[in-house]
Amino acid sequence: MTELGQLLRPDLRGRTAYGAPQLDVPVALNTNESSYAVPGPVIEAIMARVAEVAGSLNRYPDREFTRLRTDLAQYLTQTTGVPTAPDQVWAGNGSNEVLQHIVQAFGGPDRVALGFTPSYSMHPIISEVAGTTWVDGLRSQHQQGAAPGFDIDAELAVAQAQQHRPNVVFLCSPNNPTGTALELSVVEAVYDAAPEAIIVVDEAYAEFARPGTPSALTLLAGRPRLVVTRTMSKAFAFAGTRLGYLSADPALIDLLRLVRMPYHLSSVTQAVACAALENRESLLAMVEAIKHERDRLVDGCARLGLTPVPSDANFVLLGGFADAARSWQALLDRGVLVRDVGIPNHLRITAGTPQETDAVLAALESVLAAEDREEIA
Ligand SMILES: *Cc1c(COP(=O)(O)O)cnc(C)c1O
Repeated sequence: MTELGQLLRPDLRGRTAYGAPQLDVPVALNTNESSYAVPGPVIEAIMARVAEVAGSLNRYPDREFTRLRTDLAQYLTQTTGVPTAPDQVWAGNGSNEVLQHIVQAFGGPDRVALGFTPSYSMHPIISEVAGTTWVDGLRSQHQQGAAPGFDIDAELAVAQAQQHRPNVVFLCSPNNPTGTALELSVVEAVYDAAPEAIIVVDEAYAEFARPGTPSALTLLAGRPRLVVTRTMSKAFAFAGTRLGYLSADPALIDLLRLVRMPYHLSSVTQAVACAALENRESLLAMVEAIKHERDRLVDGCARLGLTPVPSDANFVLLGGFADAARSWQALLDRGVLVRDVGIPNHLRITAGTPQETDAVLAALESVLAAEDREEIA
């Protein structure tokens, strides 16, 4: 009998599935979700909208999700000041799906996707699963040294773009897992250096950026190969809905229609997302509070002798652990789940409620003290 594994596509054999642990712990700060539950009035609005569409669930949804695109376009226009029309917006079940649409349309076998590691772990997975060759680019020459942080060196990025001639380039700003936003000059330079590529700027955390951080949305005009992706999973505290979107030239969006599944956004998803956008003030109200907790985490961790990377996101990457895997486990033993992103000596912690910040700082202090004692012993 043939083993199932041998029937698998050869390039998928030996791979492990994406899997941030979903554990039941008192303090879960490992996937950059919002710790704040959906407020009561928003729940009411969602239920009313779902009730409206429930009677017509015998029909397929609006394939063009017209109302949702209109609402998303209005949200972008209002919050970024970049005039955005509904035909410049595309959406999917999470921004992972819109990223997949981009790769399916512009990547694929015999094509190359370039990213700058460390960055979002799904960019290579989405690329390779679609048969695209992934090139793990360098962010800077001193990547492993702590001093310059994890900023992308524009000249180095341009050289790599020229060398590998990618079909898709992934940039991420603010970057996951490092937290810092990108200078727009890097986006412009990479765009010009890769004339055959779709340039994706993943802005999943844009709403958390420190004041004065510009969005790549401001670069879209006149750049038909540029795509900016966003999500409702983080700032909107809406990860369970699965709604991500992008803004790009209408002609590019037209090409994405070639690869999407028919009726990919359910009537329920569309209704729920519209209700959330209508009530965005109360959903986004927690963004400022989360930024405050992020800054408290940065300060508190620095005081503990750790090395926080400056963050424009709802999480902090911390350096300074002697053995990140050991500290990860010790934190979990104290009921605090964080993320080991595979960068030596670093852990990533999501910013949550004030109580969670207190809990994680106390747990870190206790873990570091225990590790010190072990070293002395
Ligand atoms: C969390 C995250 C996303 C969000 O994915 P969804 O599918 O929208 O939930 C996208 N990009 C980055 C960099 C992220 O960290």
